[in-house]
Amino acid sequence: MDPSSALLAPPPFDEENADIVLRSCEGVEFHVYKSILSQASGFFTSMFTLPQPTSSSSSDDGRIPVTEDTRTLDSLLRICYPGPPYNLDNDLSHISNVLEAARKYEMVWALQRAKEALVRFAQNEPVRAYAVACHHNLEVQARECAKLALRIPLETIISTNIEELRSIDGVEFQRLLHYRSKCRNVAAAVAKGWAWSMPTPPLRPFWARENCCPREIRRDVDGNEYYCQPWWFRLMDAVAVELEKSSWDGVLQPSFVFTQFITHHSSVLCTNCRPRAALEIVAFTTRFSERVREAIDQVSKIVGLWILRALLRPSG
Ligand SMILES: [Zn+2]
Repeated sequence: MDPSSALLAPPPFDEENADIVLRSCEGVEFHVYKSILSQASGFFTSMFTLPQPTSSSSSDDGRIPVTEDTRTLDSLLRICYPGPPYNLDNDLSHISNVLEAARKYEMVWALQRAKEALVRFAQNEPVRAYAVACHHNLEVQARECAKLALRIPLETIISTNIEELRSIDGVEFQRLLHYRSKCRNVAAAVAKGWAWSMPTPPLRPFWARENCCPREIRRDVDGNEYYCQPWWFRLMDAVAVELEKSSWDGVLQPSFVFTQFITHHSSVLCTNCRPRAALEIVAFTTRFSERVREAIDQVSKIVGLWILRALLRPSG
């Protein structure tokens, strides 16, 4: 390309005093300082310490052509340059491009920022982010994305067209489903086995106390007997159904329990039950969420889901 026809990148990459020029695949030239690039990139450190050829097919007039597009190169360099922290846009294909380039140029900061951007993206679209994390062999991020994906009903995952899933293989998608099925089982078990929810008698919640509103007897999944107000059993049945659909620690909200209490309690006006409801329902839902979270964390530890691609396919 004729250097005179090249486009100049926006500030701060337009400084004439800069001592090197990187040219994107679209022909946009970034004037940058070797010293900054050397600090940020192992790749460029090596390049600058090697003897430079006087003329080269890969550069002209000190210009270094790179295969990255302008947007990727711009983001990479902004992360490395001094100044306020630069956050990547919430655009998954862009994040993926930056991950790829940061690896290639051995840019530790840029890689870290791109990983953070991926997890931010995963808050809203965890399955797409999971596919990108697997594609780049990012085990920690793949786990986080898989955990966030627990909120999405399985039916939604399998019926939605997710372009990024094309970049991973069936084994990686199967791992996501395997993890979900394990989590679903342990989360539902929290709603089906009630020993954790019943402290010793003086601390019993109002729905399990004697000398108050009518109670009935039921066995939990472990075969233990519980005397509780019927609305509470009904609540636990409903929660178990919800946890089968999406298994995460936020499934049970205090508002849902209050609604069940108000709608199905035999006597909402009971002067024993009513004053205790607010505190005890909030304490119960907090405890429940903790139990579900602990159970799901155990699955992450026990199930060796995320074999890196390199191990899976030695040929690459
Ligand atoms: Zn009562």
